[in-house]
Formats: sequence, C-alpha cells, structure tokens
Amino acid sequence: MRIPLTRPAPPRLSEATALLSGIEDRGIFTNFGPVNAAFEADMIEQVFSGQGSCTTVCNATLGLMLAIRSVTLTRQQGRRNYALMPSFTFAAAAHAAMWCGLTPLFCDIDPDNWAADPQAEEAMLEAHGQDIALLMPYATFGYDIDLARYERLSKKFNVPVVVDAASSLGTVSADGAGFGTGSAIPMVFSMHATKSFAAGEGGLIYSTDKTLIDTIKTMSNFGFGAPRTATMPGLNAKMSEVAALLGRLRLDGFLEIIERRQALVDIYRRFLPELQFQAAGPARQAHQFASALLPAFLAPQREQIQRALAQDGIGLAAYFSPHLAQQAYFLETCEAGTQFVADDVAARIISLPLYDSMTDDEVLEVVAALQNAMRAAAAGPPALLVEMAGD
Ligand SMILES: *Cc1c(COP(=O)(O)O)cnc(C)c1O
Repeated sequence: MRIPLTRPAPPRLSEATALLSGIEDRGIFTNFGPVNAAFEADMIEQVFSGQGSCTTVCNATLGLMLAIRSVTLTRQQGRRNYALMPSFTFAAAAHAAMWCGLTPLFCDIDPDNWAADPQAEEAMLEAHGQDIALLMPYATFGYDIDLARYERLSKKFNVPVVVDAASSLGTVSADGAGFGTGSAIPMVFSMHATKSFAAGEGGLIYSTDKTLIDTIKTMSNFGFGAPRTATMPGLNAKMSEVAALLGRLRLDGFLEIIERRQALVDIYRRFLPELQFQAAGPARQAHQFASALLPAFLAPQREQIQRALAQDGIGLAAYFSPHLAQQAYFLETCEAGTQFVADDVAARIISLPLYDSMTDDEVLEVVAALQNAMRAAAAGPPALLVEMAGD
C-alpha cells in the first residue's frame, strides 16, 4: 500500500543502543526494574498531571483481565455475573470479561459519539440489577466519555466499573489533563503498535486508588504478595525493561504527534462533508485512524469502495464491523439487547489512513480517491473490470 491504514512508528531501538546497553549491563530485564519504575513515574508526571498511580502490563488485554478481576474479587458467587459493555468495540473487551468468568451483556451505542448509549445502559442496569457484576464502558476511539456519570452509576447500582481506554493515551479532557486523571475508576490503556501511543506491545492501568493499583501490580506478578508466595489470584502480565524503554522513548514529542494526528483528522473532516464523523469531544482526542460513516445509501457498496481504494494503493478498513454481537463466538456465548444504532454504525463505518508521518497532501489524495470511489459506487453496480480485479 502506498498509503496504508496505519504506519506504526514505535521509537527506533536501533538508535538507542546506549540505553539498551544500560539494561544489559544492569542485568535486570523485567520484574519491575528501574526502566519500568522510571516509565511509570514519567507517565504520572507527563500524562496524568502528577496525580494518581499506575502500573504497566505487557498488553491491554491482560490489563483488562487484571483490572476486571481486581474489582470483582469480593463478588458473591451464584449470580449471573454479567459484564455490561457496548457491542461496538474490540473483541479483547469481551474476551477479557469471559476469562474472568463473566458473561458479556452488550448494549447499544450513541449515534453521535459511538460510545455506550446512556439510556440503553441505564435500562439494562435497572432490568438486571444484581446480575450485573461489572460496568465496562469503552472510550470509543479515544473519545472523552463522561467519567463522572460512571462514578454516579457505580454508586447508584453498587457495581464496579473498569474503563476500556485502549485507544485513549493522548486524549486530553476539558480540564487539560490526560483522560482519566483524578478518577478512582481503573482505566486500561494500550500501547500496541497501531495505537497512537505506539510502543509495540504494552499497556498501562491508571487509578487514583493506590491500593487498587498495588493489588493489580501484585496480581500481574503471579499474585506474589509476599516473597514467592501467592496471596491472591495471579498471572504474568509484567512489562519487560526493553518494552518500558520503548514507552519512555515514545513520550518524547508525544504531544506533537497527537496534535499532528488531530490536525490530519481535521483535514478529513473539512474536505469530506458527505461523511458523518464521530462527534468532536470538548477536548483533544487521540486518533488511531480517522473513522467516519458513509451515507446510508452507500453502505452496501462499502466493499466495492474498499477495493477501488486498494487499487489506488490506499488502505481502508472498517473498525468495528462486524460489532461484537454479530460475531459467531460472542453470538453463542454472550447476551445482547437491541443494537439498532450499532448495526447501522457498523454497516456504514470506514476507517481512513492515519499515521504520524502522513502529509496533508496524502490526506487530500485519500479524499479525492474516496470521493471518486463513492461517485462510482453511487452510479450503479460495480463495473465488470473492478469485479475481475478484486480479490
Ligand atoms: C487495542 C484494543 C484492546 C487491546 O489492546 P492490546 O494492547 O492490543 O491488548 C482492547 N480494547 C480495545 C477497544 C482496543 O482497541
């Protein structure tokens, strides 16, 4: 692809040989070594305005599992143990809940910001009450969801909350602090190569509740609360020193990267008025790619449009289509409310290319190619030539 969907650009380890030698010379490769400790301190200082605590993990999926398990440790057995989450999200969210013995219960999403629909969510909390063991919203594509509302819901329905903030590192809320700052609800962030904070593989759990973060850290190291003695549930989710080094290096110039990506998305918004973009939050948003909805009449032609762009060397995807309640495994094992909005959004969504080094001209090239492809798709069924050139 000339213009791929993403062009992951984690920091260049090949240019950090002195720092790598430092790790080798110390002979400490993992188990919360000095690079990891420095990285956690950097994140609190630079992303969370010096407030709260965090612990690293080797990826956000294991981070979600640990966070979910830590807030449901005292859960009484014998109930149905639903994890209430939106259906329009990534498979990792449902998998993590299921590894913790919970059954995902999918609610519909808001048509403008594509996060869990507050009305659907509250109707399910009213209807299922004590059977809901966990509320697990997703800060959709880095959107600044209302955390104060989740704190209120948590108290009102006596249910713990874990936020899937996988794509939110770089999002800044209205008060100017990183998304999640000051909240006791555990937030789970990803540092996967395709996320805006690209470090390869990695994750971070943040909360102002230091005891909770300490528990999660212990759980991520086999539950060893005393030397080599398990005192609680555990697994191995530790971040290696090399991964922590990548994270530290990623912080250099991160603000500029997030601003650059936001500026690129703004160009898409300006030149593609025929698409419906995600509602813009009050704050700066971290963008993984540029997501938008095709006009409804073009939804059935999405694959044709995708093929046309591929012929122009442009990568187009459709995150998250199908949404979770449409996927075979989750259909069999989970429960779902009506998904009128999620069905519509998943049918129309397209993910447009975005990467740190993308130029304004490349965005305009994508805009022109997409507009051509949409015009051709609107004109009628795919031409024979396009059909033959496809897969
Ligand atoms: C990427 C992602 C995850 C998983 O993150 P990893 O670090 O790759 O495990 C979970 N939830 C959502 C919504 C994501 O986009």
